[in-house]
Amino acid sequence: NLVPVGRALLSVSDKSGLLDLARALAASGVELISTGGTAQTLRTAGLKVRDVAEVTGFPEMMDGRVKTLHPMVHGGLLALRDDDEHLLAMAAHGIEPIDLLVVNLYPFEATVARGGSYADCIENIDIGGPAMIRAAAKNHRFVNVVTDPQDYAALLAELAQNDGATSLAFRQKLALTAYARTAAYDAAVSTWMAGALNEPAPRRRAFAGKLAQTLRYGENPHQAAAFYLDGSNRPGVATAKQWQGKELSYNNINDTDAAFELVAEFDPAQGPACAVIKHANPCGVARGATLAEAYSRAYDCDRTSAFGGIVALNMPLDGATAEKIAEIFTEVVIAPGADADAMAIFAKKKNLRLLTTAGLPDPRAGGLTFRQVAGGFLVQDRDNGHISAADLKVVTKRAPTPAEIADLLFAWNVAKHVKSNAIVYVKDGATVGVGAGQMSRVDSTRIAARKSEDMAEALGLAKPLTFGAVVASDAFFPFADGLLAAAAAGATAIIQPGGSMRDDEVIAAADAAGLAMVFTGQRHFRH
Ligand code: 5GP
Repeated sequence: NLVPVGRALLSVSDKSGLLDLARALAASGVELISTGGTAQTLRTAGLKVRDVAEVTGFPEMMDGRVKTLHPMVHGGLLALRDDDEHLLAMAAHGIEPIDLLVVNLYPFEATVARGGSYADCIENIDIGGPAMIRAAAKNHRFVNVVTDPQDYAALLAELAQNDGATSLAFRQKLALTAYARTAAYDAAVSTWMAGALNEPAPRRRAFAGKLAQTLRYGENPHQAAAFYLDGSNRPGVATAKQWQGKELSYNNINDTDAAFELVAEFDPAQGPACAVIKHANPCGVARGATLAEAYSRAYDCDRTSAFGGIVALNMPLDGATAEKIAEIFTEVVIAPGADADAMAIFAKKKNLRLLTTAGLPDPRAGGLTFRQVAGGFLVQDRDNGHISAADLKVVTKRAPTPAEIADLLFAWNVAKHVKSNAIVYVKDGATVGVGAGQMSRVDSTRIAARKSEDMAEALGLAKPLTFGAVVASDAFFPFADGLLAAAAAGATAIIQPGGSMRDDEVIAAADAAGLAMVFTGQRHFRH
């Protein structure tokens, strides 16, 4: 299954590594064919190259839209070298076999990323490139196709090892990579077009990502896993710089994302905030006068769970905060930057992973979330719903105080990031009890209160901090029982979507307990 490489067609937009590759190919006697810009680069460097226009007998035309779309090229890529009819057709039309195709595509994704105009993006949709890539990949029994400059070295090593030929296994791997590339390319076009036409994002489009990293394993060690980029460049774990510590695991990436998306809800213009996450749920979220105080207050919500957690900050990490974080075992810290003091303190903690980003993600930005189900996957807009004080509807006799309103909105923003059923108690800009992921809302309410009792005991407080706190529920209370449990834990005010058949019953119970309650009209299920 070794096939020697005698002729190569090179047509690349990204010319990095091109000359080294072309020189090595030429040195081992491979004939080079090339398109306009690529041919010019090769000739300038003193390499002998044939223009594709000479091969096709047609000039490149229409701004390069038509260069290689010709039977002389596609016949050379697609002909089966062991099929008599194919060989006869080649001979009849003077088609020469092309054994190696090196193509990388017009930079469509980069054009979108730099905010190119509609016409600019359209012109950067490569047509001939993907057509050749798909043809060469289909004929991988005989043809090699390289679509990424990072694979040039492997190609040259393979050729060197096999005296100028390649193995079938090698060509199969190249073909697989090639189809992943053309699929991702068209998915990027479809994603951009959905956006440009204001189509509801999850509909009528294809999905693909660019492989960023193969992971050691998935959620569990027996699961293989990988990390893909969606090309959106959203600030976060996917685009962060890692300064130290081991490679991130699948669970680290998932939890770090949850932490950073949560802390980004808290505008740094209104002061520092910190979120501590375990298993994608917050063990504590707080604001503080300083970043270090925000961290300490977040940590104090549930110190037991915070051990081995992930910390996200809404401002660049400073020395005082780094010092505090370093006191306990923490897996990952993510922040929009870190100063020299902080870096020096963390440098002594070799296992702590520090990630910095260029900024915070915009919680109101669009985007998609995916979930696998047997036989398919679900796609929806990311939950970028947002409520401000003006959206709140007071439904009880007592209206919340301004301080309660501030805490209610804080609790609501946290509840959005807690697995349902979510119950979040907040006092003075810090969570004091979080109940997550229960099948009944009343259980989440009790769990949050019980955790607060445990912390009160650990901190030596007279009573749990849920007394005098406010509480958020991610969806409506279907019965009064959950609300009564919150009142029993000492909550004074409640924020919830409303909309239950029994809202009247729930409001009456709130009034009877002297609670203030507001409805948001929007819920934040998270499963
Ligand atoms: P060059 O810089 O060599 O002039 O152009 C290289 C680029 O042209 C590559 O990205 C390649 O995928 C693309 N290309 C090759 N043939 C065609 C074609 O027939 N039509 C279009 N639109 N692009 C092509």
